[in-house]
Amino acid sequence: MDPLKLAHALSSRGEPGYRLGQILEAVYKRGAASYAEIKVLPAPLREALAPQAPILSLTERRLLVSKDGRSRKAALALADGLAIETVLLKPKPGPDWTTCISCQAGCAVGCTFCATGLMGLKRSLTPEEIVDQVLFWVQHLKRENMPGRVTNVVFMGMGEPFHCYEIAAESIRQLTDPVRLGLAQRHIAVSTAGLAPGIERFATDFPQVSLALSLHAANDRLRSKLVPVNKVYPLARLAESLRVYLAKTNRRVFLEYVLLAGENDTPGHAGELAAFVRKTGPVHRFHVNLIAWNPTRTSHAAPAAAQARAFKAELEKAGLSVTIRKNLGQDIQGACGQLIQ
Ligand code: SAH
Ligand code: SF4
Repeated sequence: MDPLKLAHALSSRGEPGYRLGQILEAVYKRGAASYAEIKVLPAPLREALAPQAPILSLTERRLLVSKDGRSRKAALALADGLAIETVLLKPKPGPDWTTCISCQAGCAVGCTFCATGLMGLKRSLTPEEIVDQVLFWVQHLKRENMPGRVTNVVFMGMGEPFHCYEIAAESIRQLTDPVRLGLAQRHIAVSTAGLAPGIERFATDFPQVSLALSLHAANDRLRSKLVPVNKVYPLARLAESLRVYLAKTNRRVFLEYVLLAGENDTPGHAGELAAFVRKTGPVHRFHVNLIAWNPTRTSHAAPAAAQARAFKAELEKAGLSVTIRKNLGQDIQGACGQLIQ
């Protein structure tokens, strides 16, 4: 939904000023999926608005539900025919749902292990298309009579948020706008492949929003191979940007680390990671999320569980807090790095 477009449509029809608030309330707070559902509006207005100010800028193409019921993936078509994917997750029992959203169709970074990276970049989304993914899931919960509500948003779907910084920033402002979804800044997380200038801007603009850095290797030779943008912003430059982030915010930084069997998963690699953290800032300001590689059409393999545990133990020995992230949604190709058009 584009509230500006809506405001324009309302004013050009000479509607009273309070209509906008009524509609925003119905759409964002109560999950109305069509104007027909907003009964406080006069019938002719309901009919007129649908084509002029669509409630969603994307349409559902396909929806998959994981066997455990804790994740759902939707392919959504954009107005120009491109498609993106978005995921609804329940990381822990309770009423809170997390949505994993895309900021671009495809991605230009081209990490070797990621399905989205294989597609290249088609285009960045608009702030409206980003926010509407969350709105899509709000409507979905209501339509399917699913208990709970969407409380958390992670920018961990398709695309690199700091390759479209302004757009991602505007979408965060919209997601947290109290007259729209009104999400808490602390319930939003942005994940980057490591665009150092973006990290620095982000520290100033959104000190309350969580930051995740996809590290995957703590030596430049290996990281440049896995995450090609490391050639532009190598580890020393990344560390500098993290120091800025730590100084300007009081948040922890989440380091994402995809474990690839035989490539970055030995105790030696864990030692390099611990050394990188120690050089960058106080160890307690970091949290490492280990993710076993989710199968994609790339030539990598996930390590055995024991190897992942040994990696974790090595980091803990160095005083780091570490979790091995559960791979929710693998059966619907909706886990990290599996999103494609
Ligand atoms: N472009 C951003 C955000 C989207 S990717 C980034 O890279 O951070 C979200 C997370 O999924 C990243 O941490 C990414 O490294 C991880 N990921 C990508 N491919 C994966 C795969 N095949 N298995 C597990 N995690 C993967
Ligand atoms: Fe892009 Fe992130 Fe995938 Fe790398 S992991 S190709 S940055 S979406």
